[in-house]
Amino acid sequence: MSAVSVEETSEAHPEAAVSATVAAVRRAYDAGRTRPLAWRREQLQGLIRMLADREAEFSAALAADLGKNPLEGYLTELSITRSEAEYALKHLSQWTRSTKVPVPLGLQPASAKTEPQPLGVVLIIAPWNYPVQLLLAPLIGALAAGNAAVLKPSELAPATSRVIAALLPQYLDPDAVVVVEGGQEASTALLAERFDHIFFTGGERVGRVVLQAAARYLTPVTLELGGKSPAVVLDGNFTAIARRLLYGKLLNAGQTCVAPDYVLVTEAAAPKLCKALVKELAGLFGKDPAKSADLGRIINAQHWDRLHGLLDSGTVLAGGRGDRDSLYLEPTILTEVSPDSAVMQEEIFGPILPVLTVKDLEEAMAFINARPVPLASYLYTQSAPARQAFERGVRAGSVNHNVSTVQLAVPGLPFGGAGASGTGAYHGKYTFDTFSQLRPVFTKGTALDTLKVAYPPYNGIKARL
Ligand code: NAD
Repeated sequence: MSAVSVEETSEAHPEAAVSATVAAVRRAYDAGRTRPLAWRREQLQGLIRMLADREAEFSAALAADLGKNPLEGYLTELSITRSEAEYALKHLSQWTRSTKVPVPLGLQPASAKTEPQPLGVVLIIAPWNYPVQLLLAPLIGALAAGNAAVLKPSELAPATSRVIAALLPQYLDPDAVVVVEGGQEASTALLAERFDHIFFTGGERVGRVVLQAAARYLTPVTLELGGKSPAVVLDGNFTAIARRLLYGKLLNAGQTCVAPDYVLVTEAAAPKLCKALVKELAGLFGKDPAKSADLGRIINAQHWDRLHGLLDSGTVLAGGRGDRDSLYLEPTILTEVSPDSAVMQEEIFGPILPVLTVKDLEEAMAFINARPVPLASYLYTQSAPARQAFERGVRAGSVNHNVSTVQLAVPGLPFGGAGASGTGAYHGKYTFDTFSQLRPVFTKGTALDTLKVAYPPYNGIKARL
């Protein structure tokens, strides 16, 4: 079986092609193909080999889709995905082992255990911003757990989608792992099918569509969504703080789900932070960031227009320029931003950093908690009591102190949202758990009927126990 492109199919009903594809993958799963540990190992090794052998093709596709610098693409897409696959390969036998559970005296002799089982045929739908990592990192856990998978890359990163569709069948079992290319039409056709799990990464609007479709078959769902992740700045080394904020914000030209969306800084710290932000911005990308090879581009003209429209939400402290034809938007720092302005209404998802002032940490937390739960939250301070207060008081998918974004590189940390920013989590063992059912198995013999004390008639049962 090879990759399916809904756009290219000449059939009058593309749903029929998708239906046939999913049915074939299910046949492979039902035949038990994906269950042996040897198969799972081969798939993980295949993924690792593909990412090493075909680095140049992936880098070229990421540059074509997002203007990604090859080194940034390597660090944030290829190497991080490869590390996840290596981690899964290393821990596979440990993760798949069954675990004995003690049996209470009244039920003995008997044995009880839990053992992770694959879920079946899973659907993974990915967005365009990290089009390799966000499609393949969930796949790693799905394969390690013994599932078959249907993958839907984003049509808005077409070069990467094509490379994945062309390469995956060369390195993975093409009967059990299939790529379906295309946009909304492909997703809609896929969501009409029955899957055993749907893993969706993307925006809130499509997240709702996925949940509704999943309800039809009561399919369990993981939703990795976005939101406005806040960064609160109290005190510390302002040069380091500015660099870390800008690094997190400007990676992939701001098109990162956990990028610090906006900054809340105390009135006392604001002048120092703003000065450092302007200075460090010039240090990262030079006087004219348009000429920097390290700054990515906006995904398309529609997003460029949306972002450009947000620039008058405040006073431009730095940046503000752009070129629609080349999809370049200058990294921009906005001050004097009203909480009611356009830039504060939706996830920015671009290189614009609004800086708002607050009285203190309490006011910052009240501001954050009055809005939908963000995917990540960041606090910059040297004060341990302030960090504890933030951990206790803020609602967010994750809490991170004195960094932005780099927490994603820790495979032992679960990655996921809370509330409106998502349901479920993954990375490292958590991806394996997401795609497994921890099934209990209880076994007892019949030679001696030691359960008879529990049977009716109940009269006098207490004395028997
Ligand atoms: P999106 O929701 O528009 O699209 C995601 C996927 O859904 C794509 O594959 C797309 O083809 C498909 N899709 C589009 N319309 C659909 C429909 N009507 N029915 C079914 N499927 C449909 O998201 P996007 O613009 O690609 O990505 C940006 C969003 O993703 C941001 O909100 C960002 O925060 C979020 N995101 C979250 C994470 C995370 O890990 N939590 C990571 C990256 C991006």
